[in-house]
Amino acid sequence: MKSVKQLKLSVPAQQTPITSFLTASGTFQEGDLLLNHKGLRLVSQPKDNESPVSDAKDIDITLEDLETVKVIGKGSGGVVQLVRHKWVGNLFALKVIQMNIQEEFRKQIVQELKINQGSQCPHIVVCHHSFYHNGAISLVLEYMDRGSLADVIKQVKTILEPYLANVCKQVLQGLVYLHHERHVIHRDIKPSNLLVNHKGEVKITDFGVSAMLASSMGQRDTFVGTYNYMSPERISGKTYDYSSDIWSLGLVILECAIGHFPYLQSEDQQSWPSFYELLGTIVESPPPSAPPDQFSPEFCSFISSCIQKDPRDRLSSLELLSHPFIKKFEDKDVNLGVLFGSLEPPVSLAR
Ligand code: ATP
Ligand code: MG
Repeated sequence: MKSVKQLKLSVPAQQTPITSFLTASGTFQEGDLLLNHKGLRLVSQPKDNESPVSDAKDIDITLEDLETVKVIGKGSGGVVQLVRHKWVGNLFALKVIQMNIQEEFRKQIVQELKINQGSQCPHIVVCHHSFYHNGAISLVLEYMDRGSLADVIKQVKTILEPYLANVCKQVLQGLVYLHHERHVIHRDIKPSNLLVNHKGEVKITDFGVSAMLASSMGQRDTFVGTYNYMSPERISGKTYDYSSDIWSLGLVILECAIGHFPYLQSEDQQSWPSFYELLGTIVESPPPSAPPDQFSPEFCSFISSCIQKDPRDRLSSLELLSHPFIKKFEDKDVNLGVLFGSLEPPVSLAR
């Protein structure tokens, strides 16, 4: 830890807060007062028993200021760790993407990620900082303490309609922001990219990352990750637009309702179709739908407004926000915080 000068560290390690310090990035904190190149601010300290999650807009972060708590996830691009800011105590998720590409491109990616950091939507995971360091891109992300929807359905198997309507509404608010304000297609909506926390918040993550990696490698449509949630028009290499995210959303929500990936008969179906069989089925066969004997007409209609083979037949994110399925539970007291708060935080996530 080269340039970190601690001004006072006389309190025992378990006693927070450390009252004053100076970080490598030149941020000085004394109690609730924080001084950095942006000026002097008042920041709130976490209360006792409250996990100091990453509401840290005022903190300048360098990698040296972060210490690893544990590994919380692994994706095709790299590892995600839970990290703690050494001096302030805030928790973040640090996603490190190893990249085997030219330095010029890496720098360009970090530059673009910095632009994306300006997200102003409560349903998009905040990317606080991005660094290019030792041949890898590191993203300091808002920590979502109940993991992803994939982790949730592993524990609860299925999510009931009132909760699902609330999940859907939050994801749609994120999609409306991406589609109608930022004018971008997410391209990788899937359970592991929809993150949740104990407060019942649902947020979209990995916005722009896969698209940027592909485009910077000169292969705009090269895709790393799962094809399971990819729309038929994308699989067949046709042009696609925002509505390909709506297809993916429909599949994710149907999966949460029935408890298994909709193209499989059941969770314990013995053999998965091969990669090519699955892609063939998505392109050739009629799309999956919600069984009307098990779900409300509003839910069945919502699913079929998303999972349509012809992209023109799908509703937009804005239209779906006022769909009867979303409206039905809006004034009911549905508390996702109780559902997510009761779950175990995901532990080891190696795949
Ligand atoms: P792929 O890389 O194939 O797209 P993925 O989305 O699972 O798959 P990552 O984006 O690297 O891969 O994420 C891995 C896991 O880390 C996620 O499934 C999630 O459980 C966890 N994770 C990612 N970001 C965060 C975060 N901000 N807060 C908490 N957990 C996170
Ligand atoms: Mg992801």
